[in-house]
Parts: sequence; structure tokens; C-alpha cells
Amino acid sequence: MDITKLTAIETKEIIKKRELSVKELIGSYLDKIDSVDKEINAFITLNREEALKNAEKLDKKIKNGQSLGALGGLPIGIKDNIVTKDLKTTCGSKMLENFIPPYDGKVVEKIKKEDGIILGKLNLDEFAMGSSTETSYFGETKNPINMEMVPGGSSGGSAAAVKAGEVLLSLGTDTGGSTRQPAAFCDVVGIKPSYGLVSRYGIVSLANTLDTVGVLGKDVEDAAFFLSTLTGFDPLDSTSSESAKGETIRESIVNKNDINTIKGMKVGLPKEFFQTEIDKGISREVNKAIKILESLGAEIEEISMPYLEYSLAVYHVIVAAEISSNLARFDGIRYGHRSEDYNTLDELYINSRTEALGEEVKRRIMFGTYYLSKSNANSHYERALKIRRLIKEDFDRAFGKYDILLSPTSPILPFKFGEKMTNPLSMYKADLFTVPVNLGGLCAMSIPCGYENGLPVGLQIIGDRFKEANIIKAGLALEGGLKNGI
Ligand code: GLN
Repeated sequence: MDITKLTAIETKEIIKKRELSVKELIGSYLDKIDSVDKEINAFITLNREEALKNAEKLDKKIKNGQSLGALGGLPIGIKDNIVTKDLKTTCGSKMLENFIPPYDGKVVEKIKKEDGIILGKLNLDEFAMGSSTETSYFGETKNPINMEMVPGGSSGGSAAAVKAGEVLLSLGTDTGGSTRQPAAFCDVVGIKPSYGLVSRYGIVSLANTLDTVGVLGKDVEDAAFFLSTLTGFDPLDSTSSESAKGETIRESIVNKNDINTIKGMKVGLPKEFFQTEIDKGISREVNKAIKILESLGAEIEEISMPYLEYSLAVYHVIVAAEISSNLARFDGIRYGHRSEDYNTLDELYINSRTEALGEEVKRRIMFGTYYLSKSNANSHYERALKIRRLIKEDFDRAFGKYDILLSPTSPILPFKFGEKMTNPLSMYKADLFTVPVNLGGLCAMSIPCGYENGLPVGLQIIGDRFKEANIIKAGLALEGGLKNGI
């Protein structure tokens, strides 16, 4: 049996029953990485020795009759913009090529506490800016479904590693879709939790009012279970919420086989989403998924959300503005690469950043600085904040009536390497349906719902803030429906 084909929940059971030691399990995953990752390139840094050492520790615990934590022995990968103590954290950038953080991010601390085993750090678009993982300084990650295609991004390494069986669970981040879009491109489940549910302490900020930690797994139960181990109020993150509890998430998984859970669930289809240009195969598979949910008792209705169409424009103004401020710390003095070629302090800053930051990062810093400059702040940044509020109110109205909203995760299928790199606007369009969710601070999941020409299609299920239970229930029902050929 190929152990790497099992889900996290199944693997946990096997470890619990002592059919396999944690060391054997971790050994199988490291072998898998050795055999496939030269080609896939999901990992930037492998944590081999430490992982094996930790596996041995857990085996000892089991031998002594002690029980393991919730993630007992499961092999996990971490996106490389989440800091890990004594383990290199590069953000996919030359700027942080050799950066070794002195502390663990809160989510990493939680994974360790629950006995998860960290196998290494996963590839991403540089500083999480991108939708294809092509902007990484460490080379592109391949899509395990079709090696000629991008895995999506920015958490392309996190999605590819799960799909290729290199890890069971992985952490991504999601500022505008970076967990959901790669999940859709690689045929796995990705959940973006509500803003404030999971601590951002130790996440290298991209755009702090939009950033969230995301989780990826083979199926809904794996991803939801993983998420439930990471929630909780954290005083070290000033935007962490007191309502950040995982109980409802755990409850919704317990009822996973009850197909009645979505009977009467009110589902809205925002017509502004469905009226945009969407790949025909994606529309077909998404419509089939909607029919399945309907046949399981969900009540589907079309709705109108007039401000949605401004989401992508508003997102790019806000994201760039926050990026220009957040990335100021990477100046060769406080953090990161320092140029050897300078005579003045200004030259030190300019040359360090010129040498170590990639094109997309520089583009966004420049746009952001422009949007925030004295003569433009009012017409660009402040205006974007006002429209953000209107988009949020659109969502508030929708959730006054509906439990969940549906859309494709992405309007386009996985595309070929290089296809969109010279045209940033066409790349940004991949995030058309995912960015509004971050603007509203809501939760959403991408779940595989079919194929077009051998390429996977993802359905996006959106829920109100802290209503993760609704999207998980709908996801479990759809997964069950697809499996049983409903
Ligand atoms: N692809 C989007 C962007 O480039 C989202 C990034 C993200 O979620 N980290 O901004």
C-alpha cells in the first residue's frame, strides 16, 4: 500500500492503532519527496533531520503509553512566508535568501504543540505576490496534475505538495486568493478562514488588513480538521478576534456523513460573478456542482451585488498601498540582503532593494507609493477604502438572507508557464472571484468539482465572517454527492 495516498484522518488512525510507527510514516514521505520534488520543486527548504528526530520522539511517547496531540505524527509543509525558528524563511525572495528567524509563528507553535511534524518550507510567489508561483526566486513549482501547467499561486508549493503526496497537510496564506486559487489549480481543498480567526503572528505581512493563514488538504475533512487545530485568540495579533474558536468547525466535521445537514440551506449565486467571462468548462462543472447541492436540499437563488465588479481594482490599490509600507523593512539594514556596492546611505538602500527584489514586487511597491502620495491618497487610496466598505455592505446584505454564496474559484483553468508573465493584468484576473472575500474579511473554501480537458475545476463556497461551519457543511455535502454520483 502507498501510504502517501491516504488522507490525514486515515493516517492518524493507522498511527493510533500502531500499524505504522511515526518514523516509518515520515520516512515514506521523505522518500516520496526525494523521488518527485526534483521535478515538482514544491520545497524551498527540507527539514529532514529535525523531522526524523521529532518522529522518534513521538514513537517514544507512544511506547510510554502517552497519547499524541491532535496532529500526532502527521507530515506537514509550511509556506515559506511563515516564520519558523531556526529554519530558513525566504518568502521566495533573494532578499531573505539566508534569513533564519529567531522565533516560531503562532500557527507553527500550535502545529508543534499538537505533535505535527514539519517536513519543510514550501515555494511561493515572491512575498506572496502572484497567481502562478513563477515569481519565486527559487524557480517555478510544477502542477502535479500536468507538469506543463502552473500550480497557481501564491501558495503553489503548498497546493502541489499536497497533491503530489509530499505532505498530508499544508499551510498557505491568503490575501486575495493565494490558498483557494492554487487549491483549485491542483485539485485539492483550500480554506481561507475569516479574518481574525487564526493568528497572523509570524506571518510576513503582505497586506495586513487582508492577510490570513490558509489551510490545504486532500479533502474537506482534512482541511477543516487542520484548521480547527489552528484557531484561537492571540494577544500577539492585535486583529485576532475573541470569537476565534474552533468548536463549530469540529462539530461540523463530526456530522460529516449526515447528508441532511444542508437541507434548507439558503444559497445565493451573485449574478455579477456568473456574468463575467468564465471558461466554458469551468461554468459547466460549477453548474453541475450547484445542481448537486440543490438535489441535496439546498435552496438556490440568484442575487445581485452591484459593487462586486469593483473588487479587483479596489483590491489592487489597497494591496499595493499596504505592500509599499510593509516591505519598507527590507532595506538591507533591518532585514535582508545588503548590497556591497554603495558609498552613501541612500545608495545602500537603493542598491540592496534593486538587487534583491523581483519585478512584480518592485511594481507593487511603486504603485503603492504612488497611491499613498500626498496628491493621490485622496483620489486613490481613500476612495478604494470607501468602495471596500460598499463591497462589504453588499456581502452583509447577502448574508442577511443567505447562508453561503457560490462562484467558480477562478475564471480560468491552470495555464502554461510564461503565458501570463508579461501581462500582469491578465495574471491579476485569475483572482477575480477570490479577492472580494478578503476585502470583506469573510471565509471561503475552494473544493474540486470536476475536470475540463484533464485540468481541475474548483468551486468557491463563501461564508459570512466566523461562519466556517456553513462552508464546511456545504463542502462535505458536495464531496459526498460527487462521490456517490448524485
Ligand atoms: N494573487 C493575488 C495577488 O497577487 C493574491 C495574493 C495572495 O493572496 N497572497 O495579489
